[in-house]
Amino acid sequence: MKSRSTTLRTVDALCRSALVPRERLDELAAVAARYAVAITPLMADAIDRGDPRDPIARQFVPDARELIEQPEERRDPIGDDAFSPVAGVVHRYPDRVLLKVVNACAVYCRFCFRREMVGPGRGGLSPAALAAALDYIRGHPQIWEVILTGGDPLALSARRIEDVVKKIAAIAHVKIIRVHTRVPAVAPERITPALVRALRARNKATFVVLHANHPRELTKQARAACARLIDAGIPMLSQSVLLRGVNDDVEALGALMRALVECRIKPYYLHHGDLAPGTAHLRTSIAEGQALMRALRGRYSGLCQPSYVLDIPDGYGKSPIGPNYLSEDGAVVEDFNGRRHAYPPRT
Ligand SMILES: *Cc1c(COP(=O)(O)O)cnc(C)c1O
Ligand code: SF4
Repeated sequence: MKSRSTTLRTVDALCRSALVPRERLDELAAVAARYAVAITPLMADAIDRGDPRDPIARQFVPDARELIEQPEERRDPIGDDAFSPVAGVVHRYPDRVLLKVVNACAVYCRFCFRREMVGPGRGGLSPAALAAALDYIRGHPQIWEVILTGGDPLALSARRIEDVVKKIAAIAHVKIIRVHTRVPAVAPERITPALVRALRARNKATFVVLHANHPRELTKQARAACARLIDAGIPMLSQSVLLRGVNDDVEALGALMRALVECRIKPYYLHHGDLAPGTAHLRTSIAEGQALMRALRGRYSGLCQPSYVLDIPDGYGKSPIGPNYLSEDGAVVEDFNGRRHAYPPRT
């Protein structure tokens, strides 16, 4: 397929690109009016147009079901607002903060937990807001780690990132700078030598956490971009969202984890789908997620095991949600084949 050079941002563009049929244009325009759309050239090329259930399309092409909301869904699904002491900062755990440097992304995911907040033209933190956020971090010596998020922090220019990283690195008690991003996979051309240099800070450790949900996101170009980061001394982890029809079968999930490990990226989190508005068709049950984790444990290397977590609504934070291999009383443990054993063994 011929490669495209610009990001698709309207349903009209998706239609011209054969990603949505013309008869659904009006219906999907209503979705796009509510939630931002962007599909990078690389991801548009990764979609198999002959497959109505394509797992890449499912993540990025708008769907009419996004306008159907469930009573349990929330505009702020993980309760960030209540823990935001100053604009751009979320301080839920004592030793680390989120710093939301920008509200734009390279792609807009249909399941995004911050879908009410992100979109093009929503810019970054103003210089004054960034200064206030940094003052807050400077004033709280228990903050050991700053997590750049958004939006997608790597949607910013290398120059802006360098500025933010330098300012954070100047705070003595901050030792770790972590970046959560989808860019190395969806727009790997942005991982330039200048960007890699911008991410590294003297005497601080920078970690990059790649958000990827399907093995086909790890294209040749994506793998090369991750290698540029890792070869420069930046360790990488991954986070994935468990999504119905994308990675909710053990073959897809296992292939994703293997592809990540082959790129030297350690799987970190598998997030249970958050209660973001209009995303019920993409969520699984927790029981399904636990069954997948069991199957993953049964068949794949320990390197391929993320921890399955739920961000508890209303801001209570992330908790691992199993599965659990030990009985409640601690007397029986299950092995990777599902067999149960007394512990300690009865001799
Ligand atoms: C997810 C999250 C973090 C990071 O949590 P880790 O378990 O360290 O990955 C930090 N702060 C907030 C507010 C979060 O939501
Ligand atoms: S890249 Fe992250 S913040 Fe941006 S739309 Fe996707 S999930 Fe949301």
